[in-house]
Amino acid sequence: MSAPGSSHWRRARVTLNSNALSHNLSRVRQFSPHSQIMAVIKANAYGHGMLAAASQLDDADMFAVAMPEEAFVLRASGCTKSLLVLHGFSNITELEKFAALKISTVVHQSQQLAQLLDARLPGPVDAWLKVDTGMRRLGVSMADVDVCFSQLRSSANVENVYLMSHFANADNVSDPLNNSQLNDFIKVTNNCGVSRSMANSAAIMRFPQSHFEVVRPGIMLYGSSPFSDASAADLELRAVMQFESVLIDIKPVRAGESIGYGSTFTAEKDLLMGIVAAGYGDGYPRHAQNGTPVWLNGQRCDLLGRVSMDSISIDLNNVAASIGDRVVLWGNELSVDEVAAASGSIAYELLCHAGAAHFSM
Ligand SMILES: *Cc1c(COP(=O)(O)O)cnc(C)c1O
Repeated sequence: MSAPGSSHWRRARVTLNSNALSHNLSRVRQFSPHSQIMAVIKANAYGHGMLAAASQLDDADMFAVAMPEEAFVLRASGCTKSLLVLHGFSNITELEKFAALKISTVVHQSQQLAQLLDARLPGPVDAWLKVDTGMRRLGVSMADVDVCFSQLRSSANVENVYLMSHFANADNVSDPLNNSQLNDFIKVTNNCGVSRSMANSAAIMRFPQSHFEVVRPGIMLYGSSPFSDASAADLELRAVMQFESVLIDIKPVRAGESIGYGSTFTAEKDLLMGIVAAGYGDGYPRHAQNGTPVWLNGQRCDLLGRVSMDSISIDLNNVAASIGDRVVLWGNELSVDEVAAASGSIAYELLCHAGAAHFSM
């Protein structure tokens, strides 16, 4: 998979393992064999490059993006698959373009609904009515589902109507909100007789009752685990993004000396430190703590001190290293989930940032 628009002037590199993307898609099929797969490729496919990801995910049944512009770019690149815009249109010009390009829209609030019902379109669009069952983000209230659904059903501007909702806590299977959201969704949609969709990656893997006709995997496609108690390897998911750089210096640090901005790490004993040419300018998380794992020559090294814009420091005491050696920040050898956990963040954010630093669309 090529990466158009890579930042050639940086030494850190983001490359993609396209086979892993296909493998992870096949894992989605194994977890939800009776559902269609709407692969979520918003935010530039979680930093992996939307167009590259879309072509590699050709076996998916449809794609979801967040913004209209993302769907327009996909169509302009020749993508003919079913496309859903999760935020829907925000004005009539966008809606007309959806109709012209056969892009499906989410309808999540009453102003959108009114615009859709009143529009004069070149042809009808497919609409996914989004129901807020407890996420409290986008979606019409449960009390309004019946009315919104029948208005969409009877509008000449709408071809097919579908129903969807989104979990707030699917990554924690024992959270009671999951069942409450599922039951409420069933309650307000059961007589509608159309395809429904609720499950994100976490629900695909641990909440099969929520699969319905269409599942919406995001993070699992990219080889990250949404759970704190199961690694990507446990779930047989493979890392798609490989984030690497090189060692550019090796030097001794004496006991009592501190390292980097803010002197947040002080050596308790003499050690050998390596400098790696990757920092928050490459999308490496600035909040990574002392001890965050960094892979070098088959060993895991500890991050030492604060992350700089263009470099990080690591402890080389357990590893034979030379200047120029390849360093893996995350990827096959080291899960992005571990780096995220050590940074007070989630893989979603790390992948988006590293991708944004290295890829354009
Ligand atoms: C991002 C998103 C998904 C995918 O979620 P993952 O946790 O990445 O699987 C599914 N549905 C909606 C509405 C989303 O915004």
